[in-house]
Amino acid sequence: MRIAKILGTLGLVAAMAIGANAAEKKVKWKLAMTWGPTLTPFTTAVENMAKMVETMSGGDFVIRIDAANKHKAPFGVLDMVKLGQYEMAHSASYYWKGKDVNLLPFSTMPFGMTAPEQYAWFYHGGGMELMEKAYAPHNMLSFPGGNTGNQMGGWFRKEIKSLDDLKGLKMRIPGFAGEVLAKLGLTVTNIAPGELYTSLERGTIDALEWVGPGMDIKMGFHKIAPYYYTGWHEPATELQFLVNKKEFDKLSDKNKEILRVAMRLASYDMYIENYHMSTDAWASIATEYPNIKIKTFPKEVLDAMKKANDELLADMAKDQPLLKEILDSQKAYLTKSRAWTEMSDYLYLKDNL
Ligand code: CA
Repeated sequence: MRIAKILGTLGLVAAMAIGANAAEKKVKWKLAMTWGPTLTPFTTAVENMAKMVETMSGGDFVIRIDAANKHKAPFGVLDMVKLGQYEMAHSASYYWKGKDVNLLPFSTMPFGMTAPEQYAWFYHGGGMELMEKAYAPHNMLSFPGGNTGNQMGGWFRKEIKSLDDLKGLKMRIPGFAGEVLAKLGLTVTNIAPGELYTSLERGTIDALEWVGPGMDIKMGFHKIAPYYYTGWHEPATELQFLVNKKEFDKLSDKNKEILRVAMRLASYDMYIENYHMSTDAWASIATEYPNIKIKTFPKEVLDAMKKANDELLADMAKDQPLLKEILDSQKAYLTKSRAWTEMSDYLYLKDNL
């Protein structure tokens, strides 16, 4: 009787200990997005990732998502993750070029790789290792966070017929493309997604680029700036999941793998969701938005962009050994993979369009 009582007490103590362990084991993270709460498919990528993490971990790993309207700092998410205020963020690496130029090339580069080429570079061509190296001084990890595919060149109030038509324009365009256009005489700026339409409407900017038909049409830019140009500047914009490295290191091996798999799958899913959204929107442009004028920049303008791009890249990488290493790796992979892209997709499309 006495023994049974002791055993019963021990059982209770053991059960309490297991309960305490389970509670301790439960990981609760917060993620800050650069985007507002309804900006599909960017937000879908984050929601899918968090949902997969929770399901795959059996509820032991939960990620709360805060949109920009909650944390109020769309471009402050890098610092918030660095300081540990958030364990994770969803944003784009080229937004951080002013903080650390080595972080610039991990979104996309003007005249750079297409999405399949760039994914191959990230996962099989040394890109992930270089991204880890670039983010190490910030005690952060960055993972691909969804690709927009080739982006459109932007919305303009007037047709661009020559280089002179570009001079003096105020344009919202992030990343290295902004530096290229600044060299051609534009005033460039980056504006948070939630303020784009108002900035264009009020004349704070004359032109802007955002993503592609799937995301642009519902923003309403065409009502103010109906000239819609094809792309050159963001052939494969990869968003990013930013992770505080100290917090990542604390995760169990199982949770680390769950997070990695969820981020990778959510990224791929965003790539195809955005492709689908643009496919649908493009199909409706001719019938529903007859005032939109689709244009390609004149050869004179594209040649000047390419020249400015090459000169600026060479200049920027001159005294930056890690940046040079990243750009050289991208250039080498672009050359190699483009030869195959030409043989496969390009010739197939050329012969069958
Ligand atoms: Ca863009």
